[in-house]
Amino acid sequence: MTHILCRDCCQVFDGPAEICDRCSGRRLLPHAEIASLDIAHIDCDAFYAAVEKRDRPDLGNKPLIVGHSGGRGVVVTACYVARTFGVRSAMPMFQALQLCPHATVIQPDMAKYKRVSETIRAIFASATTMVEPLSLDEAYLDVTENLKGILSATRIAEEIRARIRAETELTASAGVSYNKFLAKLASDHRKPDGLFVITPQLGPAFVETLPVRKFHGVGPATARKMAGLGIETGLDLKAQSQAFLQQHFGKAGAYYYWAARGVDERPVRADRIRKSVGVENTFAADLFTYEAAREALREIVDNVWAHCERSGVRGRTVTLKVKFTNFRVITRSRTGQTPIITRSELEQLGCALLEPLFPVARGIRLLGVSLSSFGEAARRDPEFVLPV
Ligand SMILES: [Mg+2]
Repeated sequence: MTHILCRDCCQVFDGPAEICDRCSGRRLLPHAEIASLDIAHIDCDAFYAAVEKRDRPDLGNKPLIVGHSGGRGVVVTACYVARTFGVRSAMPMFQALQLCPHATVIQPDMAKYKRVSETIRAIFASATTMVEPLSLDEAYLDVTENLKGILSATRIAEEIRARIRAETELTASAGVSYNKFLAKLASDHRKPDGLFVITPQLGPAFVETLPVRKFHGVGPATARKMAGLGIETGLDLKAQSQAFLQQHFGKAGAYYYWAARGVDERPVRADRIRKSVGVENTFAADLFTYEAAREALREIVDNVWAHCERSGVRGRTVTLKVKFTNFRVITRSRTGQTPIITRSELEQLGCALLEPLFPVARGIRLLGVSLSSFGEAARRDPEFVLPV
């Protein structure tokens, strides 16, 4: 079967065909390689600002800046309306407000962004186990072996964008390509709310026309240094030898040399090991007695344990979460010397944490149980590092 990429809307569909079945575009690219594109970079648009705008519909199309106001505050994220006034991330707030005096400034609410991020990461995780988060709203996905049996990374990216929109009311942009470097460039190319595909045929030419400051890993200082050496575009970079680039940029020189050729062999470094497994349940009617709470806890423990059985993980720390009718949340946890290896052990520990809370002054509206401390293998999300 032929896979066809529409260069206007980036839809991939099965051919043969003469016009795109989505946008009726005629710039079609039949390509055997399209099915083999397996890296996607997904990135929400103006994430913090978009979350705030979602929660403040009155801001509509008004300029919004997320950041700390006052003396030395800087812009953390500006919405796209504020950007049209020249406001940029990391700009001093006083300067941003000179450019856009009528902008609304909101202090960052990291706890809120983390909650939204959990939803987004769950959507990524439903597509593939090979997810490398770069920040709260951004990740590389290797979809070579995806959980949905979808062959095209483009379709997976479209599905993820649609789910992010449906579940968080936010827009995300996606780039699909055959390596991480190009996938990230591709997602940036059609922002906001866009999808762009760079095939092996298009990759080298795409990189040549690009200003070097658009390369991931080239910050303002490196861009200035490159400009001093007469390197402004991908094509200029390509003209330099690897030895020359290494002489001036050290280890990163080799990365630039290959990136200028559209080559990047860094794998998607998935954090396959989850830090905790947790299940919580909000009740239709509040619980007041230990007996009722223990009964509810049993069902939650069943679900947590089912996950442990499926994934083979065994944790040492049990955490109980309780939310009362006044929305006060408390947690209690206990860490054993050895991992919990049976369901009944998990239930016993959960009950031991629950019982001392009774009698309760207020009803319980939610109970949760989580298991963590999976051992040495459990590590934190990887940070982006330049290849060595
Ligand atoms: Mg983003």
